[in-house]
This record gives sequence, C-alpha cells and structure tokens, in this order.
Amino acid sequence: MDVNRTISDVRRSIELLKKEGKRIAFVPTMGALHQGHIELIRQAHKQGDTVVVSIFVNPEQFGPDEDFDSYPRELENDLQKCRDENVSLVFAPDRGEVYDDDKKLSIEIDSLNKFMCGAIRPGFFEGVLLIVNKLFNIITPDVAVFGQKDIQQFQIISRMIQEFNHNVELVMAPIVRANDGLALSSRNAYLTAEQRTTAPGLYRALQFIKKQILDGVKTPKLLIEHQISELEAKGFEIDYLDMFSLKTLHPENTLQEGQKYILAGAVWLGKTRLIDNFLIEL
Ligand code: AMP
Repeated sequence: MDVNRTISDVRRSIELLKKEGKRIAFVPTMGALHQGHIELIRQAHKQGDTVVVSIFVNPEQFGPDEDFDSYPRELENDLQKCRDENVSLVFAPDRGEVYDDDKKLSIEIDSLNKFMCGAIRPGFFEGVLLIVNKLFNIITPDVAVFGQKDIQQFQIISRMIQEFNHNVELVMAPIVRANDGLALSSRNAYLTAEQRTTAPGLYRALQFIKKQILDGVKTPKLLIEHQISELEAKGFEIDYLDMFSLKTLHPENTLQEGQKYILAGAVWLGKTRLIDNFLIEL
C-alpha cells in the first residue's frame, strides 16, 4: 500500500493506476477509522478495481468552538486497517498541503443547508464541499463512496457533482451500527461509559417513530415531540429531530404516499454530538 503525503506524489500514484487501466474507487475520511469506514472501503472494492482512501481532518468544516483540536487522530492505526482491507493508496496530507492561508474563494450553498446540520453548524457544509471538491480534483476518482450516516452531506455532494460537472459516480453505503443500535462514529470515543449506555436512545427513538409512520401515521409532529421530551428526560440535548424531504432537505409535517423522507436526529450527550437517520419511502 502506498501512503502519499503530498498532492504531487498522490497525482503520480493515481496516474500510474490509471495507466494500468484501473477504475478508481475513492473513500474520503477524517481518520480514526471504525467499522463504518471499513464498510465504505468494502463497498468501494465492489465498485472499482482499486481503492484509494484519504485521511484528513478538514479544519474548514469545524466551527471556532468545535472539536478540531481534540478530534481523534490515529494515523498508524488507520494505515494498518487500510492495509488489512487491501487499500492500494492512502492520501494523508498535512493542512498546509491542502490549504493556502491566503485563500480567496469559497463555495456557497443556496438551499440544501437551511435545515438539519446545515442550520445548526454554519459553514460546515461549505467546508465539506471545499475539501470534497479539492479531493475530487486531486484523486480524479471514477466512483466515490460516502455513508448514509451523513445523509445531508451525501445529498449536497450529489448536487455538487451535478452542478460542478464532476465526472464521479456517487455510491451510498448503509449505516453501520453497534449491536445496541448506536451508529458508529469516531466521536463516540468521547462518550463516558455511562453516556455510552444512554447513547442508543437516539436510535431507539428514531426506530419507534419510523415504525409508527410505516404503520400509517401521516402527521408525525406530536409523536416526534413526545420522543424529543423522552430523550430530554434521559439527558439528551436536542439539536433537531424531525422528518425531512429527501429531495429538498426541508422539514415535512404532512407525509405523502410515493415520497421519500429522511427521519433524522442530531443530539448531544455531554460534549458528544450524535447524529443518526432512517430513509423512509412511503
Ligand atoms: P468521517 O471520517 O466521520 O468524516 O466519515 C467519513 C465517511 O464515513 C463519510 O462518508 C461518513 O458518512 C462515513 N461514515 C461514518 N460513520 C459511518 C457509519 N457508522 N456507517 C457508515 N458510514 C459511516
């Protein structure tokens, strides 16, 4: 497995892979790899001949009061996991390799970030698009795999590919969960033992609401409010928990047959932010 730290090196490696006629499947990550990332790598193997992973904690997607400094960094561990999964190439640049301190341009998002995490974390998706745009230009993958766990990110990247004419196929990998339902996340490492036992409450609340909707509830507002109160009683602080249109990412109070929705939540347990979602097709 090659590990490249600079853009010029990784471009040379990619050129060689392309000369060999390899279809490149790309998995962008911020490292601290867990089974969710491994699932993305496995999906990538199904999509291409060779898998390229990037590991970069992207400063542009962290707000000033967020956890950029404390975000887990475990490169040697991550590289071993990539070797074990037959990854051909890891791109792990330093901040200075990717960003010019004298940056003069940014990407704006018109409507897809008005709700969900976009409403709570100003600048977050602009930072995500900036790095994904750069990585697509550096790696020039044929296909890229992202997780359903970050569904709003997936939808916004899908739109970027369309509007910016990236020649990349996008594949969604399902959410990988612990046995008790908690969606795996690098940030779960922040949870205390007690919080870890409470954390699956978000998954269970979403699952309960999903079941009621599939059983016929078409106006789930009260049901959702009740689940929010129950979560708050257990010690969660709620950023949002609601139904959203998969297409517009706007909240929906009245559900309609034939439409696709995201039932999504973002909550805090102490200093740990957890997100989770279900896709619901009526
Ligand atoms: P991150 O390293 O957290 O930025 O995530 C990198 C990629 O892994 C993103 O496409 C995430 O959606 C995906 N991912 C993170 N956690 C999970 C999970 N539990 N299941 C599936 N994909 C995940």
